[in-house]
Amino acid sequence: DLQPLRRALISVSDATGMIELGRALVARGVSIAATGSTCKALNAAGVPAENVADIIGFPEILGGRVKTLHPKIHGGLLGIRNDPVHAAEMAEHGIEGFDLVCVNLYPFEATVAKGADYATAVENIDIGGPAMIRAAAKNHGYAAVVVDPADYGRVLAALEEHDGATPLALRKALAAKAFARTAAYDAAVSSWFAAALDEPAPAWRSFSGALAETLRYGENPHQKAAFYSGGTPRPGVATARQLQGKQLSYNNINDTDAAFELVAEFDAATTPAVAIIKHANPCGVAVGDTLAEAYEKALRCDPVSAFGGIVALNRTLDAAAAKRIVEIFTEVIVAPDATEEAAAIVAAKKNLRLLVTGGLPDPAAPGLTVRSVAGGLLVQDRDFGRTEAGDLKVVTKRAPTAAELADLVFAFRVAKHVKSNAIVYAKDGATVGIGAGQMSRVDSSTIAAKKAAEAARALGRAESLALGSVVASDAFFPFADGLVAAAEAGATAVIQPGGSVRDEEVIAAADAAGLAMVFTGMRHFRH
Ligand code: 5GP
Repeated sequence: DLQPLRRALISVSDATGMIELGRALVARGVSIAATGSTCKALNAAGVPAENVADIIGFPEILGGRVKTLHPKIHGGLLGIRNDPVHAAEMAEHGIEGFDLVCVNLYPFEATVAKGADYATAVENIDIGGPAMIRAAAKNHGYAAVVVDPADYGRVLAALEEHDGATPLALRKALAAKAFARTAAYDAAVSSWFAAALDEPAPAWRSFSGALAETLRYGENPHQKAAFYSGGTPRPGVATARQLQGKQLSYNNINDTDAAFELVAEFDAATTPAVAIIKHANPCGVAVGDTLAEAYEKALRCDPVSAFGGIVALNRTLDAAAAKRIVEIFTEVIVAPDATEEAAAIVAAKKNLRLLVTGGLPDPAAPGLTVRSVAGGLLVQDRDFGRTEAGDLKVVTKRAPTAAELADLVFAFRVAKHVKSNAIVYAKDGATVGIGAGQMSRVDSSTIAAKKAAEAARALGRAESLALGSVVASDAFFPFADGLVAAAEAGATAVIQPGGSVRDEEVIAAADAAGLAMVFTGMRHFRH
């Protein structure tokens, strides 16, 4: 199972660790072949290496499009050493085998992420690199293939341990990683291509992810898990910088994403907003004149559930908000940025994770959501639907007041981020009762009303916080009962998509209760 390492081929775009690797190989008596710039860099650092062009007796041509696509290279990568026919052919044609191949590809993903133009993106599609990687990975019986500078150390350690040879187990593991890399690379190219077509293919035709991080466990400790980055880059948990705290867990990542997408619904320039999330549902959301005020209002909605929650803010975390947030046990804070003073306040809580994203995602931007079902994947556009005050249709005799209207739009934006069936009571730019994830809309209404009553009790108030509130429903009320329950709880105005066969009955019930009701025409199921 041990393959002596005598000859290596190096061709890299990312030169990280390459010189050190070359030195260590040469010290072991390994001879090195390398492509143009890689060879130059090695030689300049005093590492002897032979230029591939000299080996094949053919210059690099077509602006680098053809460098290594030659039988002397691919024969050396693919030849089965102990096959007499292969060995004879290699000898006849002067082909020497490669025992180690280190290739990393033209940075296609990074080039596209930087917003490169079409021609530049095309020129960054590596052809010879993947061919070499795939050839060496196929021939892992003899060749070790390294596609990630992070693995150079592993190879050198194996050489040390096995007297200058690589064990089959390592070569197999590296080959698996190599094929994962070329698959991800081609997926990135095909995603970009689908979007760059004159008639862009629907985004859901092509999606991919790259392993970003192995997680300690999944939703539960007995489930293994990993985090993949992919899709259109959006500021958020996938791109955030973690300033402090433990590694994020699977549930943290899921909840943080839900929290940040929710606060991004509110225009940071005019409206500081805070969302507190538990188990992917908000337990308090508010806007205010300052982040500290918004947090205070959000916390009031359900202070019991907020314990151990995730807090998202749509503006730079400031000291006043940080001070208030660290007063109760919080798992994660995520914001576009944090002032030094705020970061110092959070630093006092060692385990509290602080993430800064550098910006807010555009809630109206396209993108995909993916979830798995047995034997398949469900892919759809993300819910980028948004309702503005101007989109609303008043269906009752009474139209909402200006204050009610502002709260209606606010409540409906929040309801979009609550698991269905979603019922959200809101007042003065804050949620006061949230009912989530129930199988009947009436149950969600009842729970939301109960939450509003509990929140009032926690504040020592006699009257439910739902009194004088507005209520949002993520989908239409199929019967008048849910609406009547909301009126009884104290709501004065209602926002819902409409579209039920019983709309007339529901509107009549609203009129009878003196409610103002608006239809959005857009549903926000979230399951
Ligand atoms: P260098 O900078 O050493 O001249 O070239 C290294 C880069 O070229 C590596 O990223 C490698 O994947 C890529 N490469 C190697 N051979 C070929 C080839 O024949 N065609 C193309 N397009 N790229 C190649």
